[in-house]
Amino acid sequence: DRLIDATEQSNEDSVDRAIRPKLLNDYTGQPHVKQQMEIFIEAARNRGEALDHLLIFGPPGLGKTTLANIVANELNVNIKTTSGPVLEKAGDLAALLTNLEEGDVLFIDEIHRLSPQVEEILYPAMEDYQLDIMIGEGPAARSIKLDLPAFTLIGATTRAGSLTSPLRDRFGIVQRLEFYSVADLSTIVARSAHYLALDMCQQGALEIAKRSRGTPRIANRLLRRVRDYTQVKSDGKVNARVAEQALDMIDVDKSGFDYMDRKYLLAIIEKFMGGPVGLDNLAAAIGEEKETIEDVIEPFLIQQGFIQRTPRGRQVSNNAYLHFGLTPNDT
Ligand code: ADP
Repeated sequence: DRLIDATEQSNEDSVDRAIRPKLLNDYTGQPHVKQQMEIFIEAARNRGEALDHLLIFGPPGLGKTTLANIVANELNVNIKTTSGPVLEKAGDLAALLTNLEEGDVLFIDEIHRLSPQVEEILYPAMEDYQLDIMIGEGPAARSIKLDLPAFTLIGATTRAGSLTSPLRDRFGIVQRLEFYSVADLSTIVARSAHYLALDMCQQGALEIAKRSRGTPRIANRLLRRVRDYTQVKSDGKVNARVAEQALDMIDVDKSGFDYMDRKYLLAIIEKFMGGPVGLDNLAAAIGEEKETIEDVIEPFLIQQGFIQRTPRGRQVSNNAYLHFGLTPNDT
């Protein structure tokens, strides 16, 4: 497993739950999102209405699930959580919808992976709070209409481009999460260290933040490995030097890259002369799923200016060569 993989792992423990912010005020960074959501939430609360449907998009680990839970919490309503691939049949979604109470939040993670049949049920549910569903089969089949309570759908996706436009158009609020600054990640690491009862100075937090690929989930994961290292190899206090040694040991380099990022960049440099190279070829060359490359590996490399996606394929920048101590003419 990739240590810096930002995709979620299901074994969330009590510390993870404690670390996850519950209020908008504790949600670090994302100032635009916070500012807007504060207003929309307060307005809905004052009117006593359900909040408009909200679509959150951004790479894995940036806080989509956390934000959905915060919204429900701030609205003081229940949240029911599911995900696109889990909802196989129209009936699965119907069961969830009919169990909602007035004002509740239904959170659908990976909403771009809903099947067309399930998506179709969602349109009237979102628009008119109506459930339109067929029951039975053959000659006995009939369609029934049910009124649903006013609810808020929160959808999360790593790829806004994969959403059908009828679905996208039904969200009144759309928020895009950005990679976090090193300063914001330092704050997150320091807060988490506090919950882990870890003695860490500011420089220690900064060192972890710098190598976290702009992603809170990775920051928290690296912090745990630094904690292990400190416990065994040092006196239990985390300063910059100890953090650096721990992160070097687990092979997360100064730019926050692990072997997968390096393999990806070196493949483009060495096998494809720096690019441009198409996604299919690249996926075959490094033995990785196309979706993982696009959703997990590339967004941060693009944001940091290490690669570009051009119409003819992926191309590395001079920064990528410099990272490996190469110059563009070396290969
Ligand atoms: P996503 O749903 O986008 O994959 P999550 O919401 O599960 O990401 O966030 C991953 C972890 O990162 C959470 O457990 C939480 O502790 C932390 N986290 C995310 N966003 C923030 C934030 N803005 N401030 C503090 N911690 C955060």
